[in-house]
Amino acid sequence: MSQQQTGAHLIAETLRALEVPVIFGIVGIPVIEVADACIAAGIRFISFRNEQAASYAATAYGYLTGRPGVCLVVGGPGVLHAMAGVGNSMVNTTFPLLLLAGAAPTGDSTTKGSFQQLDQVALLAPHTKLALRPPSLEQLPNAIRDAYRAAFYGRPGATYVDLPADYIQAPIPSSPSRISAVEQAPKILADPERIRAITAALAASKSPLVIIGKGAAYARAEADIRGFVDATQIPFLPTPQGKGVVPDSHPLNTSAARSATLKGADFILLIGARVNWILHFGTRFRSGAKIAQVDICAEELGRNGVDSSLSVIGDISAVLAQLREQLGGYAHPSSSPWRGAIHESSTANTRKARVKEDAVTAPGERLSYQRTFRIVEDALLQLAASPEQLVYVSEGANTMDISRSIFSIAAPRQRLDAGTYATMGVGLGYAIAAEMAYNHSPSSSSSPKRVIAIEGDSALGFSLAEIETMARYRLPIIIMVMNNGGVYHGISDDTTEFREVWEKDERRLEGTLPSTALGFETEYDVVARGLGAKGWRVETEEELKSAVEEAWKHQGPSLLNVIIRSGAGGKLSFGWLEKKEGAKL
Ligand code: ADP
Ligand code: MG
Repeated sequence: MSQQQTGAHLIAETLRALEVPVIFGIVGIPVIEVADACIAAGIRFISFRNEQAASYAATAYGYLTGRPGVCLVVGGPGVLHAMAGVGNSMVNTTFPLLLLAGAAPTGDSTTKGSFQQLDQVALLAPHTKLALRPPSLEQLPNAIRDAYRAAFYGRPGATYVDLPADYIQAPIPSSPSRISAVEQAPKILADPERIRAITAALAASKSPLVIIGKGAAYARAEADIRGFVDATQIPFLPTPQGKGVVPDSHPLNTSAARSATLKGADFILLIGARVNWILHFGTRFRSGAKIAQVDICAEELGRNGVDSSLSVIGDISAVLAQLREQLGGYAHPSSSPWRGAIHESSTANTRKARVKEDAVTAPGERLSYQRTFRIVEDALLQLAASPEQLVYVSEGANTMDISRSIFSIAAPRQRLDAGTYATMGVGLGYAIAAEMAYNHSPSSSSSPKRVIAIEGDSALGFSLAEIETMARYRLPIIIMVMNNGGVYHGISDDTTEFREVWEKDERRLEGTLPSTALGFETEYDVVARGLGAKGWRVETEEELKSAVEEAWKHQGPSLLNVIIRSGAGGKLSFGWLEKKEGAKL
């Protein structure tokens, strides 16, 4: 009983030919048939509750696998919601995304008022690398292939293909374009003259530094970077998502001495990281420091007035091989004053940080961020077969900021956060993407990984409903909410009787509740249970430890609602953007 083959089947066949293993999205007319044809063709379809989260998930899947994540949505509002992922993909530059969306039939004029009608190509063209409507159903496979390829060739980003309803429903044409899989992009080598100049500058440097960005993680250059660092003995500093390319535990990691290293280095080899806000626009580099930036994108070099005369365009692994050959037996001496200064600053900062992590919570006192994270990391390291098993997703200003320096990252692409766009709401979508990339992809490593989403209570709210998505697919993601009842901080003071303050607070009625306030002790654990996850309310150190252990055993998603100090009365701050010198980042 063979069904008539339609455009929907042709799309599914095309995605299969491109070896797309999973699609993230939400169906509706006219894309239900497309999703069903994909499922029938053996492609997984993860149905979300909001296109925003689905589009974020697809971008993260692209980052984690090195191939574009595919997102399928309806037209009009579906596309508007998925724009969030498009922006996220473009701004992060390492999160390739192919967005596919249903569209009004090709014969309908834009003034007709058709169902969910929107000129999606016009909307997306300025925000993507490529946005197109195939001129005919015959040419649709080629259009999808071109968009898929464009999303990850060159600098990764977002691309878009319109799927008009009449194409989806039309019988398969007799001679559609047949397509083949897309090879990895060829690798670019650096200009040999510049390689010699970089080598000379490095040889003359007294305080060299390697900065490792998420471009290096995306490029899967970990073995070459590790080899480079080990051979040259140059200290390194990872950016937030560059963490793990070389394990945080490596003796040359200078994360704990970040300010001092940025200020002290007279030579910086910048690998796959932009000189944007994450690196303070270069204003915290020592003046006159020589910057050798390695990037795949030529337009990136020289941003914010940085001297780019030593910079190169090229694939990171290829460029590092060129550099090593030119460097011969170069190694930075372990006894250098530079190494000594970094060691001193690291030791002092680590000692200071440990005081907060080790401060046992007194009876009746609320847990702090630092203490919570210390307990959770210790518990996870006991439960995991190895530190490489742990994948962290983190969002929320303070939650992300503080957890970043506490959780040690053992392997590349195992820490995802709000990223270059500082996007709140990515967490649950990213966690689902990580689960799919690590535990359900054809190329998954043999030992499964555990995904832990460390969420601020505000950040969680953006995509709370995706807990149901996790439960539906039985994804054993562990979510912990740092619940302080607010954005940055809550409204009730640590020293006051919490609930009483909240209940009597007249500001709600008067309309003067601060803009940062959220519900006091909102029962996210109860919500999680309602959505099919396990949930615990956590107030003490003992409850925290045992909830982590219970969550670890659970086959589906779990949520720990960790009630922490509200931080009320403290100043609003996000360490990264602080101007003052010595801010710990
Ligand atoms: P971070 O947030 O870690 O500082 P950024 O997102 O600022 O990193 O920078 C990542 C950089 O990596 C971008 O400029 C991007 O062009 C670059 N990049 C992406 N893929 C590659 C690659 N394969 N080789 C070299 N550079 C790459
Ligand atoms: Mg909060």
